[in-house]
Amino acid sequence: MPLDLAVIGAGPGGYVAAIRAAQLGMRVACVEKAPALGGTCLRIGCIPSKALLDSSELYWQARTRFKGHGIVAGEVGLDLGAMLARKDRVVTGLTTGVAALFKKHGVQHLQGSARIAGRGRIEVGGPTGGALEGDRILIATGSEPSPLPGFTIDGERIVTSEHALAFPSVPRRLLVIGAGAVGLELGSVWARLGAEVTVVEMLDRIVPGMDAELARALQRALQKQGLTFRLSSSAKDIDAGAFDRILVSVGRQPHVEGLGLEALGVALDERGRIRVDVRYETSVPGIHAIGDVIPGPMLAHKASEEGIACVELMAGGAGHVNYEAIPNVVYTSPELATVGRTDEQCREAGLEVRVGRFPFAASGRARAMDEREGMVKIVADARTDRVLGVHVLGPRASELIAEATLAMEFGASAEDIARTSHAHPTLAETLREAALAVADRAIHT
Ligand code: FAD
Repeated sequence: MPLDLAVIGAGPGGYVAAIRAAQLGMRVACVEKAPALGGTCLRIGCIPSKALLDSSELYWQARTRFKGHGIVAGEVGLDLGAMLARKDRVVTGLTTGVAALFKKHGVQHLQGSARIAGRGRIEVGGPTGGALEGDRILIATGSEPSPLPGFTIDGERIVTSEHALAFPSVPRRLLVIGAGAVGLELGSVWARLGAEVTVVEMLDRIVPGMDAELARALQRALQKQGLTFRLSSSAKDIDAGAFDRILVSVGRQPHVEGLGLEALGVALDERGRIRVDVRYETSVPGIHAIGDVIPGPMLAHKASEEGIACVELMAGGAGHVNYEAIPNVVYTSPELATVGRTDEQCREAGLEVRVGRFPFAASGRARAMDEREGMVKIVADARTDRVLGVHVLGPRASELIAEATLAMEFGASAEDIARTSHAHPTLAETLREAALAVADRAIHT
């Protein structure tokens, strides 16, 4: 019997879409070429990088912070093999969890590389092999690291993020090319574990697109941790021979090769991403696409939201993604988290804004945690007080941004946040104080 939906790719876009489609009563199959489910995110992206960030943070805390807390821990050593093995266990636990979810929801899983042979028809190469017939096809094939001319990846000395998640020993000198989230996160991991890390970036700032003031503050914090930055510089200006490992992290590009899109006439944009309409349908009826392979921020939760919206629309529902309220986090220490627009972006768009700032140094909870760096910035419309953006540099910013995202999703004003009771003492109180600061009435600064 033909399927209602055939999904290509089991990343956070594809696997979530497949499960939601099954919940909606569709007969669904998902083809994944990798041996494990979960995509870039679970296998070689979000999850393993966060596992190493958490482990290396604990190591760094034990070495630098325990004493201040009155903890005498003796000599702190590193067992890198055990650290990497823990990361692998976390990944395996989650990828097998996706397989269990497929089973629970009745999603058929095929392992192999998919090619769209025609409308509603997919050929699967690899272990499972065979062909699938489906009313609709959803492409969720994600992205892959962008190459950098002059730096051919050999997987040993010149590497991508995938290799940098599994260096068998701590590099002596690591060159990171590109000061985006991936470069800074993995640079932080290896710096905490003892590598001398240099980050080279073409632009005159780190984390392009995020709040410039907080980006400068993050750069200062990372420099204090020993990272060296070479901004406004090309990797070719650096003596690459001086480094034993080079991580190329200059961005990612959509993964469309081998899908047969050209023959089908599926239109791509100027950057090779699949063009879709508001229903995530490509230029060929019945073929849809979501996630990193289409325009928009390359983020796991964005892929998942699109996957859900896309299949809900297929089922006649009202799927929707609010692109104005998609949070974005850099998991360094301190973390940088942002949702909505920066004050610069608002002003460029001709909007008059008021900005409320509140430093973590004035938060009782942050001081109790010995975390004084960073601040919360709330950007609100000067006329209506509606929150247009929230930017957090500080401890647990990745968690704090959820409140800001919810506020924006509900169309909250800064006053709404200011009038909401926040437990004391918590880091979240900084959001309330920044909201008060929008109207120049913060209490604790
Ligand atoms: P993917 O996760 O890339 O999944 C696509 C899947 O399709 C892959 O498994 C691939 O094998 C499969 N596939 C491709 N072609 C075929 C084919 N022809 N047949 C069958 N299968 C195919 N995002 C965040 O939101 N938070 C983070 O903290 C974060 N950290 C990251 C850290 C790193 C080091 C990296 C590299 C990325 C990180 N990202 C993070 C980005 C995130 O991983 C991606 O945005 C997300 O995985 C995109 O989801 P997707 O489903 O579109 O594609």
